[in-house]
Amino acid sequence: MNADPQRTDTAKRGAVRQDLRHLAQVAFFVLFVAAPVFDLLRYDLVAGHAWFLGMEWHVGFDDYSAGRIGLGEITGNVLLRIFVPILGVGAALLLVAWRWGRLYCGWLCPHFSVVETINRLMLRALGKPSLWDDRRLPPREPDGTPIRFDRRWWLVTVPLAVAFAFVWAVVLLTYLLPPFEVYANLLAGSPTRNQAIFITAGTVVLSLEFLFARHLFCRFACAVGLFQSLAWMGNRSAMVVGFARERGADCGDCYAACNHVCPMRLKPRTVKQLMFTCTQCAQCVSACETTQRDNPSGPLLQWVGQEAARQNEAVMSARRPGWQEDAAWN
Ligand code: SF4
Ligand code: SF4
Repeated sequence: MNADPQRTDTAKRGAVRQDLRHLAQVAFFVLFVAAPVFDLLRYDLVAGHAWFLGMEWHVGFDDYSAGRIGLGEITGNVLLRIFVPILGVGAALLLVAWRWGRLYCGWLCPHFSVVETINRLMLRALGKPSLWDDRRLPPREPDGTPIRFDRRWWLVTVPLAVAFAFVWAVVLLTYLLPPFEVYANLLAGSPTRNQAIFITAGTVVLSLEFLFARHLFCRFACAVGLFQSLAWMGNRSAMVVGFARERGADCGDCYAACNHVCPMRLKPRTVKQLMFTCTQCAQCVSACETTQRDNPSGPLLQWVGQEAARQNEAVMSARRPGWQEDAAWN
């Protein structure tokens, strides 16, 4: 296999795609933290109403209790100001998932950013991205850069997981109480009793989740992820990570980089049903573009949609001797 600048560009494209994804994740994390501060979205338990895009968002329960509006008006308000926005956002999310899969998870979700960050640190500390992997991964990146496993990385991994948990707990509290009051109390070291209980309990629970069950939460416990997966599975033409199975022998030169980089611990060279929780992060695709950068036929993994997605599924589902081994390649 000869090196070819055009082929090497494929590896660069994979790196650029991951850079863009990381940018999107950082931007959404900032939005997640800043939204309550700028009253873009929050519910104020003290004032008894929500804020949306800087405007007070009243349903009118107070007016109904005081007899200023009738049953018809309050029912209309509940429908228009609660159900319609929630169902609208849900429908948009499901529509995107139906067409392109769990893009929200892989490209935006602030929880998935934590999953990936802690996975990477744990890999360095432990040789495995999760405590529940049964063996160590090869100590190298897809581009061949060696990774040195070293237990001292625990000194970074555990404090960072706890710091993430603390930030999450504080931010979640600002979605319920006036953000300036929460931050001012914290800076003065004097949160109210209830604020202290919320932040402490949130930090403990989230620390345990981030350290022990982060990708398992995404796979098995997150309702937002589950409904996106169900919508995606309902569309046979949806975008999916496709595998050039007829060139499977080329994987012999590789160390199964695609399996090792997957933050959800999936094996990307398999049928869609076994990829139910794929987040479309495309790390497997980028890894394949890197490891196969000198392959004249190009990478074996790539995103496919429409007819190509249907054909990929037909090929991947076709039974032949060795199918089970393919599904379990590692
Ligand atoms: S299979 Fe690929 S695209 Fe899906 S979650 Fe794993 S690495 Fe990301
Ligand atoms: S699909 Fe690509 S990354 Fe995965 S084992 Fe084959 S060559 Fe390697």
